[in-house]
Parts: sequence; C-alpha cells; structure tokens
Amino acid sequence: MTPQGARKPLIAGNWKMYGRAASLAELSALDAAVGAAGRRIDVLICPPAPYVQPAAAQARRGVLIGAQDCSAVREDSARTGEVSAAMLADAGARYVIVGHSERRSQHGESDGLVRRKAEAGMAAGLIPIVCVGETQAERAAGKVGEVISTQVRDSMPGEGAAFVIAYEPVWAIGGDRTPTMQEIAEVHALIRETLVGRLGDEANGVRVLYGGAVSPKNAAELFAVDGVDGALVGRASLKAADFSAIILSHPAAS
Ligand code: PGA
Repeated sequence: MTPQGARKPLIAGNWKMYGRAASLAELSALDAAVGAAGRRIDVLICPPAPYVQPAAAQARRGVLIGAQDCSAVREDSARTGEVSAAMLADAGARYVIVGHSERRSQHGESDGLVRRKAEAGMAAGLIPIVCVGETQAERAAGKVGEVISTQVRDSMPGEGAAFVIAYEPVWAIGGDRTPTMQEIAEVHALIRETLVGRLGDEANGVRVLYGGAVSPKNAAELFAVDGVDGALVGRASLKAADFSAIILSHPAAS
C-alpha cells in the first residue's frame, strides 16, 4: 500500500464567486510567499471561470489553476451558459472542482451528474476534485458513514484513478466549526476503504482532502490527521497572506 507520505499533498483554494481581475495580483504574492514549498506541495487556485485564462497565463510557474465546475456535456453544442471541460483545459486549467455542496444544494446536482462532470473533466485531461460531505441533520442522525460512502461510490468517475476526493462537511463550510480530528480521521479512512473497494491498489494514488472552515489557525492540526492529503479552502484562499500561512503549516513545506 502506498503510504500517505508518498502522495503529494494538494492544497486547493476555491475563490467561489469572489474576486475581480485585480485579485489576480494575489497569485504572484502567493507564489512569492510559498517559495520552494511549492515544489513539494501542489498549490492550486480555482478562480471564477472568466479569470481562469488570465490566471493560468500569469501563474505559469508555481501555482496551478483550476476551475470550480464544468459541463457534463463533452461535445461542442448548443448549451447557452455552459462551459465545457475542454474549454477550461484550453484556457490553462489543470483541475476542476465538481459536486461542491453549493452546486449540489443551489443547483440540484445529483451524484450521477457529478460523476458525469468528473468524467468529462478527465476526458479533457483535467483532474477532477470530487466533493462529498454530510449535512448537519445527516450527522445528527448517525448517517455519516452511509452518506459519504454512497456519495463517493456514486460521484467518482467510473474509470481511472486520476482524480481527487474532497471531504467537506456541509455544515462546516463557511463557518468556524470543523468535526473533531478523530471524526475527520474516521471519514477519511472510510473514503479510502471505499476507494480501495472500487479501484484496488490504484486507489492508493487518489488524494483525499479535507475542506470546511480551514484557516491558518487549524491547518497544522488538520494536516497532522491520518489520511488527510491536503485541503480545499474557501474564504482563507482569497488572500495570499492567509492561504500561504495554511500552505506553510503543512509538514511537507519545511
Ligand atoms: P470555507 O469553504 O473554507 O470558506 O469553509 C470551503 C469550501 O467551500 O470549499
């Protein structure tokens, strides 16, 4: 089995619907602040779609650029408002987030649609970051295991292992509470077990991130949790100062 240390950490920032062209200055500041640690950790920023291309052009050296969503449809076709994975790859994206809980809850995205988006991303050469997570009510009802293993099984791509899973408890996103470190370790172990059940040895290369209320204050503790291969960060990724503090608190940074 590939030890956790053999998977290159990934620390991803999701800018959501924040930022303007001027915010791209944060990328240079981030690159400078992260320095050599950026060679040992994959540092990714997912800006809003209009900024993917200029961000990728600017971040040519250190920081990787990704998108926050893509169409499940692969063929160029009449789909007003949709952006294909091939377009995002053409614009310089390397990763694409799919199935974020905000897409699932605000746009009614099902596991099946998330899977098709992940597969469209892979077909275009992007690495999908497939998000899963339980609601507060599901946690209170003791259903975390069932909810997460179902979401992983039904949302992950049907073939191949070139993807990432992000465990993001819905109730932790945008707040200041996280599960306990023990609870996070348990969910990550369950995700790993589910992946191994589906992919066998190939699962060992799949990185599993934690997301939801990650900040410079709790990042070191989170990165020490067994099975946590990095983080998906919302608010604290908007400013290079905060995001670089998170990255530099990873053990692989020093
Ligand atoms: P947050 O968001 O870090 O602001 O909690 C995380 C996410 O939605 O990916």
